[in-house]
Amino acid sequence: MRISAITNWAYGITVFLTVVSGAAFIFSSHSADLERLTVQEHLALDDLGEELALGAEETTDEARLYVMRGEDRHLQAFQGKEGEERRRETAIGNIRALGGSAAELAALDEIESDADVLDKVEEGAVAAYRSGDRLGAQQTLFGPEHDRLQTAVLDTVRRFRELTATRTESAMDQAKARSDFWGAIAKTMLGLTAAVFLAVLYFILRRRVALPLMRMTGIVNRLAKQDYEVEVPLDSRRDEIGEMNEAIHIFRENGIERERLDAERRRDQQTKDLILQMMHRLQACAAQYELAEVVALFAPQIFPNFAGNLYVMNESRTMLTRVSTWLDPVRPERVFPANACWGLRRGRPHVSDASHNDIPCQHLDDQEVAGLCVPLTAQGDAIGLLYLEERPQSQAASETSRLYLELIAENIGLAVANLQLRDKLTNLAVRDALTGLFNRRSLDEALNRYARDEAHQPIVCMMIDIDHFKRFNDEHGHDAGDEVMRYVAQILVDTVSTAGTAYRFGGEEFTVLLHEATEEEGFQLAEQIRSRVLATPLAHRGRVLGAVSISVGVASSPLAGSIATLLSRADAALLEAKAAGRNRTVSASITFGEQAIKRSS
Ligand code: GH3
Ligand code: MG
Ligand code: MG
Repeated sequence: MRISAITNWAYGITVFLTVVSGAAFIFSSHSADLERLTVQEHLALDDLGEELALGAEETTDEARLYVMRGEDRHLQAFQGKEGEERRRETAIGNIRALGGSAAELAALDEIESDADVLDKVEEGAVAAYRSGDRLGAQQTLFGPEHDRLQTAVLDTVRRFRELTATRTESAMDQAKARSDFWGAIAKTMLGLTAAVFLAVLYFILRRRVALPLMRMTGIVNRLAKQDYEVEVPLDSRRDEIGEMNEAIHIFRENGIERERLDAERRRDQQTKDLILQMMHRLQACAAQYELAEVVALFAPQIFPNFAGNLYVMNESRTMLTRVSTWLDPVRPERVFPANACWGLRRGRPHVSDASHNDIPCQHLDDQEVAGLCVPLTAQGDAIGLLYLEERPQSQAASETSRLYLELIAENIGLAVANLQLRDKLTNLAVRDALTGLFNRRSLDEALNRYARDEAHQPIVCMMIDIDHFKRFNDEHGHDAGDEVMRYVAQILVDTVSTAGTAYRFGGEEFTVLLHEATEEEGFQLAEQIRSRVLATPLAHRGRVLGAVSISVGVASSPLAGSIATLLSRADAALLEAKAAGRNRTVSASITFGEQAIKRSS
């Protein structure tokens, strides 16, 4: 029941009880008045009865004393009986005025008539005495007739007094009972009023209002401080406090929801910031390994619930090679064929999961793994793959995550494509298209770098020229000439390996720079190259081209001369090798230095 309804009821009941209690008090007071009147009447009737009895006895006594003693004073006293009669009549009149029962009134009448008869007998006796009949008078007043009359009067008076006493006492009892009854009702009503008042105070104000309000105050205070951990007890009462409780519930739920949305927004903003940071870093990447590091660093921060691999496609678009991995995916394949991935085949993100809702990728032969393959594309070409794997006990990717994922994939794809493009352009700028060796420009830059090097590390330069190269062109065509050029270049790369760098100087001339090497070591390596070139006779399109020989000039710095003269010294040695009959190596030291002459033949 609602508190307002209870309060109204309590108010109504209290008013009703108060009215009833007041009325009972009035009745009780009225009954007490009646009781008092009854008592007064009882006392008055008793007094009057006694007066009647005494009056009758006194008159008789005076008459008897007179007829016995003959004294005048008794006569006078007897003769004052008229006054006595009036007193009796007055008393009887008063009794009648007070009211009485029929028996009482009949007794009164009887008293009156008996008293009159007695009076007349006594008056007769007194008159007889005065006329001298003393004996007769005495016999009358002390005779049996007088006794009978007097006894009759006194008996009637006694009976009358008994009647009135009985009546008034019963009236007194009734009045007292009534007074007690109303008094009890009034007290009970007063007690009930007090009980209702106290019950309202305790149950409504304390238990249903004060206590819940105190509890709610604590809860509201905590909610105001955004402490949504606070438990709001469920209150099923359909009253104002219950409604307030429900409102607090809603307030708390709204608060929690708002906090959740805030946290989501913050997380989302954080993710966006991370994605932005990642994009900036990706754009600044100068090499693929840097890009791989950036992805491995940011991907787990952006998607902490996903492990993953980043794959890059080879140039022939057939194989994928892993360049980066994070959070230990279950499927960490290093290499797999491009057509093993449905994502790459379809050019769209593809989910392979244990529920088999969609066909799983072949490169994920473990059916228990839920994997997402997002192809990386640039200008319509697939250039790699972002593979993500849900970690155990993590939530599935939301739609927003998917969008971010695609955004990231697009950016990684563009970054990979940019790097590949940049590599291609760089290669075009620094490499020779025919042989794949670094070009003359790269050689100049390398020599400049060495020239700037304050450590002056030892460096050896070889100038290599193919002997009678023109002949290959002339006899077998330019393609055959090109083939010879590529052949020599490949042997250069293989033989020099990490000891230095091979350059195409121009035409059919090549240069090799060896770092941290002596001229003698350079000479030995040149000889190795020369003999390897000479070792295999070449064929082109089924036609034998014959053996290829080269002449090499070797020079070194800084011991044998400056970097600035390194090329020209090596070139001079090459010329000397040509002049000496070709297919040989000449060290520059033989011409310009004091050291041992090394000449091959
Ligand atoms: P030597 O033994 O004195 O070095 O004689 P050689 O024939 O090798 O030298 P020469 O300078 O007379 O001839 C070089 C020829 O190389 C001239 C040119 O047509 C040819 N050549 C230069 N660049 C290329 C190229 O890229 N491809 C082909 N096929 N030929 C080239
Ligand atoms: Mg030449
Ligand atoms: Mg030549």
